[in-house]
Amino acid sequence: LVHQAYHDPLTELPNRSLFQDHLQLALNRAARRSDYNFAVLYLDLDRFKVINDSLGHDIGDELLRSVARVLENCARKVDTIARFGGDEFGILLEELTAPREAINIARRILGEIARPLSLGGHEVFTSASIGIVLDTSKYLGPEGVLRDADTAMYRAKEAGKSRFKVFNQKMHVQALRLMELETDLRHTLDLDALDFVYQPIVCLKHWRISGFEALVRWNHPVQGPISPEEFIPLAEDSGLIYRIDFFVLQRVIRDILDWQAEAGMEAFTGDLALTVNVNLSGKHFQRPTLSTQVGELLREAGLAPGCLNLEITESALMENPASAFEIISKFKSMGLGLCVDDFGTGYSSLAYLQRFPIDTIKVDRAFVRDVVSNPDSQAIVRTIISLGHSLGLKIVAEGVENREQLAFLLREGCTFAQGYLFSRPVARGEVLRLLASRDKLAVLP
Ligand code: C2E
Ligand code: MG
Ligand code: MG
Repeated sequence: LVHQAYHDPLTELPNRSLFQDHLQLALNRAARRSDYNFAVLYLDLDRFKVINDSLGHDIGDELLRSVARVLENCARKVDTIARFGGDEFGILLEELTAPREAINIARRILGEIARPLSLGGHEVFTSASIGIVLDTSKYLGPEGVLRDADTAMYRAKEAGKSRFKVFNQKMHVQALRLMELETDLRHTLDLDALDFVYQPIVCLKHWRISGFEALVRWNHPVQGPISPEEFIPLAEDSGLIYRIDFFVLQRVIRDILDWQAEAGMEAFTGDLALTVNVNLSGKHFQRPTLSTQVGELLREAGLAPGCLNLEITESALMENPASAFEIISKFKSMGLGLCVDDFGTGYSSLAYLQRFPIDTIKVDRAFVRDVVSNPDSQAIVRTIISLGHSLGLKIVAEGVENREQLAFLLREGCTFAQGYLFSRPVARGEVLRLLASRDKLAVLP
């Protein structure tokens, strides 16, 4: 029973409790002896979920056992290797003569894990990310050490995986800032105090505003405006993204109803009907209830689904094509428009592009930015436009900032554009004014 309480049944390795006990003893020893050095490695496999989902749980289990054996071979007798759960492992390196020793062991582990494994008739490639705590002198208990090793492991993932990162104080400060931001964001959501703006999308054929994209804005009470590029990833990690995207969706629906009441229905019906785009995080694909919830919102509001386009980034679609396909097919059958955002950055498979029921692709800003000076960007934009048109899709160029970019896009037959050249995102109050003169753009053809 004692053995069971302190070991992981799958790999026979010590579990987190036993690891923490050993870590506490190491901390005590280090406090007594100034010559005693130890280090902690926190290891997480990089693509375990993919392997588990595609090859099955038996192979996943086998992989975890193999990794356990690799770690045992790389470490020394005095060290403690533990499985914390899932694909996470901890390694306590004791009796180190120099910090360099810990680094060498981490390097050896990465090298060994990168070798192909033969599991159940499959050749499986995997890699790991490792966070390391070397300076253990300031810790009072095991929790702090593990927290910081975990933080460093996340940095290793962010830096591109299959590598190690040594924890430093800067990481701690950053981790604290993220934690505070998360708390503040939660609070802002509780108060319904998140905001958003609308950026016009221009139809280049009719030279008029064809719709708007809603973009969320967070004005932090102390730090001022914080970019979505910073807080959306945080919201995705913490699960707050569900609330954010629903908040935006709900408010956009309300705004459209207001505009219809004030400006009349003409703008929202017919061939040139105005549409509003809303961004949807790929995280939603892990929740199959999404389409039902959106359907309910629309029904309650009595809004025609055709008024809304959902923007989903290309990488979100490709991360989990099977469930993405299922969910966006439901949206399609409900009558919503679907749009692939940031196209060109997410390694699409052309087969999916054809199979997914999408209406629009948005050429990523990065290509449009360089389209005047960089022949590669020109070739990419040209190819996306012609590919899109052959598949019967609308093409929106994002981030159009100047006339030269626009001239190139017009030459290549791009039909929609969005960017500072036409308009920055505007507050909801300004949308009606823009709508009233939607075919009198400041930029002339
Ligand atoms: P995105 O969906 O690709 O949105 C376009 C971004 O380009 C916006 O940045 C917009 O302000 C910016 N932009 C538009 N025209 C120009 C231009 O001419 N030049 C330059 N340099 N930038 C331009 P923003 O508002 O900072 O949003 C960044 C990203 O955050 C969005 O990229 C989107 O992926 C995400 N996001 C924004 N709102 C939401 C939301 O409500 N939900 C979710 N899940 N994601 C959102
Ligand atoms: Mg977008
Ligand atoms: Mg985009």
